[in-house]
Amino acid sequence: MAMTFKGPDGQEDMPYLLTPGPLTTSRTVKQALLADWGSRDTEFRQVVREIRSELLRLAGCDDSYECVIMQGSGTFAIEAALGCFAPSKRKKTLVVANGAYGERAAKILDHIGRNNILISKSDTTQVQVSHMAETLEDDRNISHIWLIHCETTSGIVNPLGDLAAAAKQAGKIFMVDAMSSFGGIHVDMVRDGIDVLVSSSNKCIEGIPGFSYVLVKRDLLEASKGQCHSVVLDLYEQWKGLEANGQFRFTPPTHALVAFRQALRELEEEGGVAARNARYARNASILVKALGEMGIQPLLSDNEAGPIIQTFLTPRDPNFKFEQFYDALRARGFAIYPGKLTKRDSFRIGTIGKLDADVMERVVVAIRDVLRDMNVRDMAPLAG
Ligand SMILES: *Cc1c(COP(=O)(O)O)cnc(C)c1O
Repeated sequence: MAMTFKGPDGQEDMPYLLTPGPLTTSRTVKQALLADWGSRDTEFRQVVREIRSELLRLAGCDDSYECVIMQGSGTFAIEAALGCFAPSKRKKTLVVANGAYGERAAKILDHIGRNNILISKSDTTQVQVSHMAETLEDDRNISHIWLIHCETTSGIVNPLGDLAAAAKQAGKIFMVDAMSSFGGIHVDMVRDGIDVLVSSSNKCIEGIPGFSYVLVKRDLLEASKGQCHSVVLDLYEQWKGLEANGQFRFTPPTHALVAFRQALRELEEEGGVAARNARYARNASILVKALGEMGIQPLLSDNEAGPIIQTFLTPRDPNFKFEQFYDALRARGFAIYPGKLTKRDSFRIGTIGKLDADVMERVVVAIRDVLRDMNVRDMAPLAG
């Protein structure tokens, strides 16, 4: 007989998702899905209005910013933002990458024919102002910069405020992929001088997948008219539609939007971004400490690893097999995430979503049991 377990809200055989999204959501967020909203109704348009203004407030925006919602996962909004705002003639976008998501942004720019320069740092190197200074000095045609805030490849958090300030000082347009951090790490677009920020519904706000969004200075949005390489991803046209009658140009993910409004209200009830950040940081610290005591080494030091996702180096014990480890944890009610580093074997455990210290303690117990069952003793990492 298959082992059964109880997951979130006591649901049978539904695991906690220890991943960077989709992630575990509250029961009340899921309950918000139990209604069919008409996309033209006043009530639904009010939901969209509330979401747009709440996102701007969370990001510290003043009234020179706009929020445009885009159907699709996070990458849709990334491609939309690059297609609308990355320059297309002589000017260039500088992408400073330290993982797969930075590399992907450069790939998108190549694909849509926008000039770009990619600086590629290792997954364990935090991006610093000094890494881009020389390139900015050498190439006067760089007008835009693209950065990943939390690089989910490793979980490393780049010093957004410092980098944005340096970009502003150099007179550049600063754009950030804050997909996996927004709502979990405080961002202030006005204070930091961030022109464009992209995130999605199913990360730290704890909504369900279905849409992404772009927060952007209105003058940039206005200037993007006619610039997008794509009809569906055109943020200017999407914005014009939303402003004209509160409606989307094409079918909106109504259920995901209503659930997201509930998730935003729950973020406020929890105490806002500061309280959520503290919960995630506690999740991360419980996990890193307990696995460290077992001898399993995290990839990053405490001050580089953010609270979003933790990367651990694979134990060198030949009995450790990731697939078996994954399946056994899954059978106990916890879905973890494979590693994505280019150089070292690793696995990842997400610490965001509707998870608290109690869940993390149970994860730790499950990991200890599984490693014992697999007879894994030598936890030191494979040589890197
Ligand atoms: C999740 C994520 C994305 C978007 O991925 P999708 O699969 O398209 O939702 C982009 N950048 C980062 C840093 C992410 O964590």
